[in-house]
Amino acid sequence: MDSGREKEYTSEDYQIGLICALESEMAAVIAMLDEEHEMLDSQDRNDNNSYAFGRIHKHNVVIACLPAGIYGTTSAAIVAKDMLRTFNSLKFGLMVGIGGGIPGKIDIRLGDVVVSNPTNTSGGVIQHDGGKLKDGEEDIELKGSLNTPPTVLLSALTQLKAQRIRKPSLVPMYLKDMIKNNPMMEENGYSFPGIEHDQLFHSKYSHKTDKDDCGQCDKTQVLTRQPRKSVEPRIHYGIIASGNQVIKDAKRRDKLASKLGALCVEMEAAGLMNNFPCIVIRGICDYADSHKNNEWQPYAASTAAAFAKELLSFVSPGMVRNEGAFRGTVEELKKIESEQLDEQKQHFRQQKLQYDSEKHRKCHIALKPTSSYESQKNINPLKSPGTCQWAFEHPKFKQWDHNKKNDLLWISADPGCGKSVLSRSFVDKQLETNDTICYFFFKDNDDQDRLSIGLCAILHQIFSRQRQLIQYAMGTWENHEKTIQQETAELWRILLSASTHSDSNIICVFDALDECRIDDQKLFISYLSAFYKMSCSTASKGQHLKILVTSRPYADIELGFKDIPPTLPAIRLSGEKENDAIRQEISLVLLERIQKLGQDYNLASNTINKLQAKVLAMEHRTYLWLHLALEGINQIYKHSLQPDKDSEALELLPSNVEDAYEKILQRVQTQDHEKVRLIFQIIVGSKRPMTVTELALAFTIATQPNINQCKDLKIDENRFEKIIPQLCGLFVFINHSTVHLIHQTAKEFLQKPNRVAIDKSNSWIGHENFKVCDTLLASICTRYLLFDDLVSTIMPKKRKRDGTANTKTSHELLGYTAAHWPEHFRESNSNDKLVRDASLLYKTNQNYFHLWFDIFWDVNMRGLSPQRRWDVDPPQIARISVAAYNGHTAILRSLNNKEILGPTCTAPD
Ligand SMILES: [Zn+2]
Repeated sequence: MDSGREKEYTSEDYQIGLICALESEMAAVIAMLDEEHEMLDSQDRNDNNSYAFGRIHKHNVVIACLPAGIYGTTSAAIVAKDMLRTFNSLKFGLMVGIGGGIPGKIDIRLGDVVVSNPTNTSGGVIQHDGGKLKDGEEDIELKGSLNTPPTVLLSALTQLKAQRIRKPSLVPMYLKDMIKNNPMMEENGYSFPGIEHDQLFHSKYSHKTDKDDCGQCDKTQVLTRQPRKSVEPRIHYGIIASGNQVIKDAKRRDKLASKLGALCVEMEAAGLMNNFPCIVIRGICDYADSHKNNEWQPYAASTAAAFAKELLSFVSPGMVRNEGAFRGTVEELKKIESEQLDEQKQHFRQQKLQYDSEKHRKCHIALKPTSSYESQKNINPLKSPGTCQWAFEHPKFKQWDHNKKNDLLWISADPGCGKSVLSRSFVDKQLETNDTICYFFFKDNDDQDRLSIGLCAILHQIFSRQRQLIQYAMGTWENHEKTIQQETAELWRILLSASTHSDSNIICVFDALDECRIDDQKLFISYLSAFYKMSCSTASKGQHLKILVTSRPYADIELGFKDIPPTLPAIRLSGEKENDAIRQEISLVLLERIQKLGQDYNLASNTINKLQAKVLAMEHRTYLWLHLALEGINQIYKHSLQPDKDSEALELLPSNVEDAYEKILQRVQTQDHEKVRLIFQIIVGSKRPMTVTELALAFTIATQPNINQCKDLKIDENRFEKIIPQLCGLFVFINHSTVHLIHQTAKEFLQKPNRVAIDKSNSWIGHENFKVCDTLLASICTRYLLFDDLVSTIMPKKRKRDGTANTKTSHELLGYTAAHWPEHFRESNSNDKLVRDASLLYKTNQNYFHLWFDIFWDVNMRGLSPQRRWDVDPPQIARISVAAYNGHTAILRSLNNKEILGPTCTAPD
């Protein structure tokens, strides 16, 4: 190689460009130069490439390399475009570098060279892309064949092939010279690695280790190939497959072979071929399978460079001069580049959209409360025709309804006046309009008494209707994810900000605020007051947020709203002041129902009239009373042989709801009293409505003190489901296999402080006080959690996290007991036996502890539903902290100092 030539070159002097993807390829090309040139003094200011310059045979060539670490068809196109900015005289190019060989019909070995060669159907390079087949297997998607190399190169190729028939290739000599002139290249792996390092494994045999080399791979899986007479590289002409993905999978490689007939895979050519006339020369460095490694890359780059040099010897400078410079190519390339960038941006945008919508979906799911807000609404009866008008026709209601601004209305009314029926009927009516209606029915059980859950239900409904608003929840969701259901203040804030961007009015109905837990109730009223004051002081633009709250007329709720200045329009519709209107509506319903009852039992019109008169004379009239009274009469007539003469019905009419409850319970047979009491205690004491199965299991445990194994818990749920209403009369009802007391007042009746019971020993009122219920449930829960076979049958499956662990009926009490026993125990009259059992549950070296604590943690700490409880591990936590958290002072007293100072517990594996 000569150097230090006097002549100064300009960009006009270079008509052939060599493009490499890797610097190791560039090094090999530079090593093939017959003469190296100085760098040019300047290049186009928009050209970001770095170049090497020199001469091969009679041609001045410029060598460009892709920026380090960036491969793929798009970057190749950008390099070519930049190159054309500086080198206006460029006529064509050669892509020189390495590629993956596709063995098959043609015996390709490592170090061989594949040259893109047009066929009848393609220009020599075919662009492909990954795609998925329906069965999940990857498929090859063809993006079409690219332009044929320039004629000057094709004719050089023809001459070269012709000469090879007569004379040997100069490639081996060029390789030798390269090492001779650049001895360091041998150390850097540019010499022939040796045929023993050329192993082609069976297509179905995958690489075994994380290591690059195949030392651990089974040598019997290496295909036996006919030894070649010489190790000199062979040149193959054919199809090169070009795509943006690295192919390192024999199956995919073979698909490319069968589909395209390709001999080689690489990643850059497709970016060039249509815009920059060139030929692609690839030295084979691997077999594009899982065994692929870098060992052969330098040598393969050299064989490709050597072939490029040989090819250029068949290109005459005259032909190059005559080849027209490609006009407008810079513009074309710019266009292509911007199209490709657009495509990439589009792709990116789509990915982001997909990613966002996946995140949105997860957030939406995270907001959904465990129990269905819809069935909590639908458990309330439908309204009778002509009723609820006292509210819907009230001027305050109408004003709230028609107001064109954010607004709040609080409807208070006495128990049993049909508030929840009112709420349900309003919601059902609104569901048919264009407004976004959402609702939550509070109830004093663990599923329904928290504001945060109510707000989650509301937001879940809003986002179901207006998906775009979920963006206002994303920040909070990203911060809290699974615990989002506990972030009351955040949820309220989301509701306010989402409502200001809503595309329709949002109407929120919160039923029975008095059944919301006290601290949440106070908080909610303060939110509502602030919301109302704000809505009065600012004109709302666009859509409105309307909130409707119903409750009993309790003084503390009224007190809560005292912050609202009396100068503002009243927010309260006092149903208790509308009692006359309500009574009239009830009278109408009453007359109608008695008429129907008369028809059902064929009563004489005289009897019907008497009944109606008697009923209308009653003072305490509510829907609940009406329902109970009529059901009572119904029961009597059902068993009466002479309904017309039966005056019992009239005498038995209860004068008020409590009286009605007493009358219902009077029908409980004396021998059943004990059973019914237990059932009431379980229902009244439970922290959430139990399923029939849970109730049956709890009842069985309570009545059979000797049971201590799950396998002995034999229950017949169907029978139990039939017997409960029989035993408890109208007091309970079963809805979707869940047991409910007929009304909130029934619970209050059973738990009313014991004053009346002293007078009337026969009375059921105040029968079930809180302590008694909690003590019973604490004992049921602790006994159940200590069943030996519960631990042994559940624990191993728990580890699987498959969520299908407890399918046995006898396991169905686990979720409830684990989540709620600490609360029952805390509120109980703890006796020695209870404390002993509870201490056992705290023994962290036994499985009992983990059985309940994992569930307890998830339900109470993370707001997760029991079904999802295996998703996350509870923390390692000292039992002393758990006992303290639970307020279990009796347990704390029983723990010794060692425990207090000791390490945290670990899983008993
Ligand atoms: Zn291997």
